[in-house]
Amino acid sequence: MERRFLVRTFGCQMNEHDSERIAGLLTADGMVATEEAADAEVVVLNTCAIRENADNRLYGNLGHLRPLKAANPRMRVVVAGCLAQKDQGIIQQRAPWVDVVVGTHALPGLLELLRRAEAEGPQMDVREATEVFPSALPARREVAHHAWVSIAVGCDNACTFCIVPLVRGPQRSRSIGDVLAEVQSLAASGVVEVTLLGQNVNTFGRDLTVPGSGRRPLFAELLRAVDAVEGIRRIRFTSPHPHDFTPDVIEAMAECDAVCEHIHFPLQSGSDRVLQKMRRSYRSERYLAWLDRIREAVPGIAVTTDLIVGFPGESEEDFAGTLQVVERAQFDQAYTFQYSPRPGTAAAGFDGQVPKEVVQERFERLVELQERISLAANEALVGSTVELLIEGEGRKGGAQGRTRTNKVVHVDGRHVPGTFLDAEILSAHPHHLSGAAGAVRRTPVPV
Ligand code: SF4
Repeated sequence: MERRFLVRTFGCQMNEHDSERIAGLLTADGMVATEEAADAEVVVLNTCAIRENADNRLYGNLGHLRPLKAANPRMRVVVAGCLAQKDQGIIQQRAPWVDVVVGTHALPGLLELLRRAEAEGPQMDVREATEVFPSALPARREVAHHAWVSIAVGCDNACTFCIVPLVRGPQRSRSIGDVLAEVQSLAASGVVEVTLLGQNVNTFGRDLTVPGSGRRPLFAELLRAVDAVEGIRRIRFTSPHPHDFTPDVIEAMAECDAVCEHIHFPLQSGSDRVLQKMRRSYRSERYLAWLDRIREAVPGIAVTTDLIVGFPGESEEDFAGTLQVVERAQFDQAYTFQYSPRPGTAAAGFDGQVPKEVVQERFERLVELQERISLAANEALVGSTVELLIEGEGRKGGAQGRTRTNKVVHVDGRHVPGTFLDAEILSAHPHHLSGAAGAVRRTPVPV
């Protein structure tokens, strides 16, 4: 009988990347993916400790699995990811039906942990440091044309709202050679778009030296090297940190044909006082100056950002600062979050937690402003022709693709994911565009 697995992913792209590796390991072990927990022999919850109510979501999901596991004693329940790393033994105390807790640094040992769970009962591995990059593991990707490529794990910063340094540890970069070998083999298997992933891509290489010299490799160098890989037509990266941003990255973005005209540039707050309390070591003027330089060097680039509303001590004046910077920055999109304390972070213990209703009211004002700006940015594209990379089916029939500027466009007709085509933009909405499919430029090459 077919042995099946289900991986549920919560959280960011780093987790999506790790889930592809978890699925790859299970596939290499002879299992096949299923969408139904009831059918699965292995169910993995790949957790996130950043989002609000992360624990509630985890224990809610585990609660649903409990009767399924009682009905199917062969089922093994695995908790992976950042909450596994953070909560460790607490998970199996609260949910004794969990068979394996595997931390962010221990993924390579997942199959062995499952075997040991079979023979010996519940297992946990939450080691403190990465020995094998998850990228070195086999992957089972959701789509054939795109791949996440991890260039570094962990983070050396200490933003006071963020749990990442605690659960992912200090930064460890992969060598440019390793990254390139992965990108080359992805290109050979039909991947045309890669997203380079790191918590702070600008500090990539800070912990390495170039073989044969005392020099550190730079992120801009890596971008140029990936750009030179034949078959890779789009390169994205996330996320740069405004504090560590450097002009050579802008030059590489402008000069490398495959590097897309989009940057995700997290602002977090427009108030310098709040930025200081967040321990984000740039100020709003410097941030805006970087944006001007980037836009000058890469015409038409789309800029997206992250914003936190209601950080402890945020006054109405601080919030007005955020609105002002958002107005000046003219972001194409912003991922807006209402601050809520994350246990284990410095800010969770700060005085001046802002009442929920105040946070909500500010949040609504910010979203309203950003929606207006996003809509205007999208309306400016109506009538233009853009290059789309088709990602899959559209919600209302037709197909959905993405521009180089990372905008989602719905077009008519059926198109295979991985197809490049021209589309004329017909109408704009704050979060997507609608268009008419035109000439097909390239269809996926069977490999
Ligand atoms: S830079 Fe700050 S927000 Fe980003 S991962 Fe590091 S600590 Fe977290």
